[in-house]
Amino acid sequence: MILLISDLHLEQERPDISRAFLDFLKTRATQAEALYILGDFFEVWVGDDAITPFQRSIAQALRQLSDSGTRIYLMHGNRDFLLGKAFCREAGCTLLKDPCLVELGGEQVLLMHGDSLCTQDLAYMKLRRWLRNPLSLFILRNLPLSTRHKLARKLRSESRAQTRMKASQIIDVTPEEVPRIMTAYGVRTLIHGHTHRPAVHQLAVDGQAARRIVLGDWDSQGWALQVDASGFQQAPFPLA
Ligand code: MN
Repeated sequence: MILLISDLHLEQERPDISRAFLDFLKTRATQAEALYILGDFFEVWVGDDAITPFQRSIAQALRQLSDSGTRIYLMHGNRDFLLGKAFCREAGCTLLKDPCLVELGGEQVLLMHGDSLCTQDLAYMKLRRWLRNPLSLFILRNLPLSTRHKLARKLRSESRAQTRMKASQIIDVTPEEVPRIMTAYGVRTLIHGHTHRPAVHQLAVDGQAARRIVLGDWDSQGWALQVDASGFQQAPFPLA
């Protein structure tokens, strides 16, 4: 059995979510061969060198799970794209590229965070291109910590303000972008998070039945997609 989750937005200010996640790691996740975390795992990440005691406790819990035999794969989101090798070593996770092709349930599946599918948001796409450039990342990682905190706060408040202002179709995925990327990677199943709109969208790609599974965010409840002999199934569960 494989589990996929995303958009937990873990932060010290939401102990209900981190408690539910730690509980998830000790129960359901121990039954899984692999756990995929598809981005925005942390609400904010300013660098592995600035890890807080709260974040370290999450890393240790992940490490315990990986030591017990569950493989853990982590993909960057737009909030935690500075998560790096040091964190992954400490947490026993493997960092995945976005997008990433994996075999799940006997088929090739494309995994993404999902922000790169929201191409109608031109300002964000431009910022994303800059933020994911290796040179920018090098500069960002070497800025003084106080500057990185300031930047992170600015990015978060801008992203919140823009989310409120922008038309909802702009912050959702661009419909044409989905078949384009699925054709490019030759898949019939795409799984992503980011939009906080959990669903299974049935579509046709190149005249064939295909699906886009959107992972739910952890807020008033948790969400996990389970892949096993009976297929792909996502269900919410209470946090407490
Ligand atoms: Mn996101």
